Amino acid sequence: MISENLKEINKNIEKACKNSGRSTDSVHLIAVSKTKPVEMLKEAYDLGCRIFGENRVQELTEKMPVLPADIKWHMIGHLQTNKIKYIIGKVDLIHSVDTLHLAEAIDKEAGKNNCIQDVLIEINVAGEDSKFGTADMDINKQLIKDVSALKNLNLKGLMTVAPYTDDPEDNRQYFKALKKLADDMREYFVSDPVLSMGMTGDYMVAIEEGATYVRVGTGLFGERNYNV
Ligand SMILES: *Cc1c(COP(=O)(O)O)cnc(C)c1O
Repeated sequence: MISENLKEINKNIEKACKNSGRSTDSVHLIAVSKTKPVEMLKEAYDLGCRIFGENRVQELTEKMPVLPADIKWHMIGHLQTNKIKYIIGKVDLIHSVDTLHLAEAIDKEAGKNNCIQDVLIEINVAGEDSKFGTADMDINKQLIKDVSALKNLNLKGLMTVAPYTDDPEDNRQYFKALKKLADDMREYFVSDPVLSMGMTGDYMVAIEEGATYVRVGTGLFGERNYNV
């Protein structure tokens, strides 16, 4: 099942890249493996997946040591300051920096560990109450400036979780807005800003609007069951 799903996703990524005149090399698939057993991650790994996204620190640190060392782990979920120490320097990218307080705590922990941590700032483009981050662009711009000044962090770009919808076109406006914010603030990122946007329901639209990382869980591994 994972094999067919992955083929389909790669085909869709290619199609979306073609639609928007982008190179497929510019888009990276994050296999979102939260709640899924390591056997399934190993299967995806054997099929070529090298970036895995998890949203809970405990699950991430349990899976990490039992899977191949060349996997790049991405923390995509809300991060509590007291959990930073378990993942600092071990995860390739933290997508979910949503306050200066959290950024400063990551910076401090990175300093202690003599590492530079790559991070993204999470933007709540649609302003949903249920999501982390804010839709206030003045606050977001200030946050980008402040985080970019922290010396043990590399601010690589922005991330958003768009609203759940049946029609991916509904989210095009939010992906456009995230891209615009990144472009407006370009000078504050360490290199061309990366954009983490698009999930199972809307990753093709996200790619058309400039996503460099798409985070696909259900479309790759199937529905999640939180009751087991
Ligand atoms: C779970 C999750 C995803 C994947 O969602 P699907 O709809 O299953 O593809 C992507 N991003 C974040 C932040 C998530 O928590």
